[in-house]
Amino acid sequence: MTLPQIFASRASRMTASEIRELLKLLDRPGLISFAGGIPDPALFPAQQFAAAFARGLAPDQQAQSLQYSVSEGYLPLREWIVGEMAKIGVPCSVDNILITSGSQQALDYLGKLFLSPGDTALVGWPTYLGALAAFNAYEPRYDQLSVTGNRTATSYATGAEAAGGQVKLAYLSADFANPTGETLDQQGRDALLDLAEELGCAVVEDAAYQSLRYDGEAVPPILATEIARKGSIEHCRTIFCGSFSKTLSPGLRLGWVVAAKPVISQLVLMKQAADLHTATLNQMAVHDVASRIFDSHVETLRGAYQHRRDVMLEALQIHMPESVTWTRPEGGMFIWLTLPAGINGAELLERSLDSVGVAFVPGVAFFADKSGGNTIRLSFSCSNEAQINQGIRLLGQVMRGA
Ligand code: PMP
Repeated sequence: MTLPQIFASRASRMTASEIRELLKLLDRPGLISFAGGIPDPALFPAQQFAAAFARGLAPDQQAQSLQYSVSEGYLPLREWIVGEMAKIGVPCSVDNILITSGSQQALDYLGKLFLSPGDTALVGWPTYLGALAAFNAYEPRYDQLSVTGNRTATSYATGAEAAGGQVKLAYLSADFANPTGETLDQQGRDALLDLAEELGCAVVEDAAYQSLRYDGEAVPPILATEIARKGSIEHCRTIFCGSFSKTLSPGLRLGWVVAAKPVISQLVLMKQAADLHTATLNQMAVHDVASRIFDSHVETLRGAYQHRRDVMLEALQIHMPESVTWTRPEGGMFIWLTLPAGINGAELLERSLDSVGVAFVPGVAFFADKSGGNTIRLSFSCSNEAQINQGIRLLGQVMRGA
């Protein structure tokens, strides 16, 4: 027996996608990349972090900042988050908050907490690739989350039972979703809560991009809607996952979960078993920077990203063939293109990389059922105006030659 032959069955669900392999080619010089869904490093509050880390490492702080700390997370940071959550309609206490090592860790823990092999997770077609990767380890079945009323709770439950489990969670990125850029409206959020209530399942609200709204009216978080219905977070089935990755820094790996206390208590046990706690010094530095400049910094980000989004939308209007359609996101980092049925996004990427050096992510990567071959995701977060205009013009050329 070789070691791969004795890997647990869950390992077989953890596979590197072909697309990730293709995207490894992205460090070619001169390439214009709309692929990475990452923040622009030029916009990191680097000086503020340098000062915050220096303060955190000052002699009177070292005994705390370099030491182990509690699994729940650094208390002043949780208190700061309580204040932020209150501003978006989520009254809660520090006992409703767990600090995680990025929201990706929260997705892993929530998969671990709810999904037994064969249970069903409802996800969008498409959905965030990293959520599928996190849940896959727990060997779920996926079903397509639809909030437009074309699927009844009974049809979901019957499918789940036939597969030997039950619907345990519905996952979605509700604001400026990765990959589509779309936001679920209030009616959709209400319908989702009704469905979850009927199914008795958890709602995992991934709010990674929530602060990055550029225009339009803010829609209250799903958790806020549920609290308004039920009077208290303690009666809620929605679990809110926040992140500092898109606002302050992804490299520091700082996210948080907001949920009813019994959910948080169980997640705390999981965190204890997995990595004890998120890096103390990073939590102190993020608290330091967030409490000084969060609002003004997010304002700066909004200005910069809004401009790039506008440039990309205008360039698409000019350069795309008529048969291509796309979303018009009110925030976030992504625009989602639907190509004519015959055009395959992965093939288009290969051609585009070879002939004009423009990268993007083929949409198929985001579908649990491997459909969506004729879709692609473009990110505008890391490109300047000239790169966006040139890249979209070249992409239009490749499409016309397709
Ligand atoms: N959710 C979504 C929708 C994302 O796009 C990302 C990052 N790409 C994450 C979660 C994970 O973010 P992090 O772990 O850095 O907080």
